[in-house]
Amino acid sequence: LNNSIELDKVRKDLVVSMDYELTVDGEMIDSSEENDPLEFIQGHEHIIPGLEKAIEGMTVGESKEVFVKAEDAYGAFDAENFVEIPKSEFPEEIPLEVGIEIGIEDENGEEQSAFIEEVTLDSVTLNFNHPLAGKDLNFKVKIVGIREATAEELEHDHVHGQELEDDKDCCCGDCK
Ligand code: ZN
Repeated sequence: LNNSIELDKVRKDLVVSMDYELTVDGEMIDSSEENDPLEFIQGHEHIIPGLEKAIEGMTVGESKEVFVKAEDAYGAFDAENFVEIPKSEFPEEIPLEVGIEIGIEDENGEEQSAFIEEVTLDSVTLNFNHPLAGKDLNFKVKIVGIREATAEELEHDHVHGQELEDDKDCCCGDCK
């Protein structure tokens, strides 16, 4: 009798390691680094919905090209999604430079990401569109590993033991 969970296919609640290349408008703009695949828990919206759907059921070693339309990726570009704010409302420590990403709390207290689009003498225009909004994405992916998530990983809703980018903290101290 074999009660072990099937680990041969990508499915919900499993930790997936995946190599990827992302091409947009014919240009490769992002990829997993050599020997450092992307790790995430499948079925938890850790990756964009269209990609998550496309890799469901893939096996270790399998490669695939995945085309994700903008609406299943970062959404349509919204020309209304710009807000002009008086400069005086910005804390002094925020550098007001075009292209910088900042976090802004909305009326519900949730942090929204925005990019500085324009700076004038007394106002700043923020662009709340994701940089890839309106873009169709072409992925080349390869599944390089599948394992069971620990109970703690499922509870924390992230994969443990990852190398963090310099500016990020681990919420639980399990990452380095
Ligand atoms: Zn954690």
